[in-house]
Amino acid sequence: MKTQTLGLETRLTHAGRRPADHSGAVNTPVYRASTILFPDLAALEAKESARLRYARRGTPTTHALENAVCELEQADHALVAPSGVSAISVVLMSFAEPGAHLLMSDSAYGPARKFCDTMLRKFGVETTYYDPCIGAGIEALIRPETRLIWMESPGSQTFEVQDVTAITEVARRRGVATAIDNTWSGGYFCQPISQGADISVQAGTKYISGHSDLMLGTIACRADQYDRLRETYLRFGLCIGGDDAFLALRGLRTLPIRMAQHHASGLSVANWLLQQPEVRRVIHPALPGDPGYAQWQRHFSGASGLFGFVMTRTDRPALGRMFDGLRLFGMGSSWGGFESLLVPSNPAAYRTATEWNPGGQTVRIHVGLENPEDLIDDLRQGFDRLVA
Ligand SMILES: *Cc1c(COP(=O)(O)O)cnc(C)c1O
Repeated sequence: MKTQTLGLETRLTHAGRRPADHSGAVNTPVYRASTILFPDLAALEAKESARLRYARRGTPTTHALENAVCELEQADHALVAPSGVSAISVVLMSFAEPGAHLLMSDSAYGPARKFCDTMLRKFGVETTYYDPCIGAGIEALIRPETRLIWMESPGSQTFEVQDVTAITEVARRRGVATAIDNTWSGGYFCQPISQGADISVQAGTKYISGHSDLMLGTIACRADQYDRLRETYLRFGLCIGGDDAFLALRGLRTLPIRMAQHHASGLSVANWLLQQPEVRRVIHPALPGDPGYAQWQRHFSGASGLFGFVMTRTDRPALGRMFDGLRLFGMGSSWGGFESLLVPSNPAAYRTATEWNPGGQTVRIHVGLENPEDLIDDLRQGFDRLVA
């Protein structure tokens, strides 16, 4: 059910909830289930058409989450998967057939590339990586056998903002499906399906969860892609447990206020970083000087807490002094939780269509929900150790 006349905050407050169905409880309860019992033989025989038939095919808790993801992404249908990578793999696999061709942004998440280079290749699917900033120029790369164009915007390591409107317009005209990794925006700052994409995927692990305690993938799509995606999803036997669906729904309720804070705090830290002599460049699409700024303004209503910067120093002992003494920033994979993270990254290592040569050490930062002044202090002391 799409109720787009209401604001997204309002829809996320009410999505996937029907208290009257659950003794008045505000939240849809956790259904832990495998077997679903039928009251009589006739009902058992008709179970193929029943909404509930076996918990691998969904429970009221997972259905509630799917409904809420539809609201978030302004989609007709949604599927929920055990991780972001499994959601990506379902989408890519759904377009695989021997001889098929796939276009994938050079900025795409590493494991998405890996799926193309290993699994899809084994099945005779060829992948061409393209410059994320190609825009309408994507048309020249489309072949008769091209089945899917994959986007990630902004790229979660290098933050190029793609011209989703232009790419999906070309794709539609040429009869090619489009899918996008929308994890960076949390779905709150961008609804790519309303910008022309057929499929929008998220690592729900990140902002939907928001609390670093959940692995989840979401697939949202237009009506005409649902059967194809659901078929792959079912054949792989994917499903998620009720507790995880509950945590995701709980996270979604506060997504708008969390994202607003990530936006504000992220920009505070980014603007401070811009002034630092140890920083060569800040890679944040919501900064007016960023190459992606114009596209960001057209496609997003805000910025999340994840961005990058390039440090002038690259020597390992100095970086060690800086990173090892951080009090508030953690070091580790993932992002989108309430806590801040800082990790060195090496985008040059995987790119094949474009060069990444920013003239220093690239660092990825996630600005969490701490007081940004405290985060800036932690970074300032880090830079002091770096140059000591
Ligand atoms: C983390 C991430 C994923 C994968 O999600 P998992 O839940 O870790 O499998 C996919 N895309 C992007 C952009 C990510 O950052």
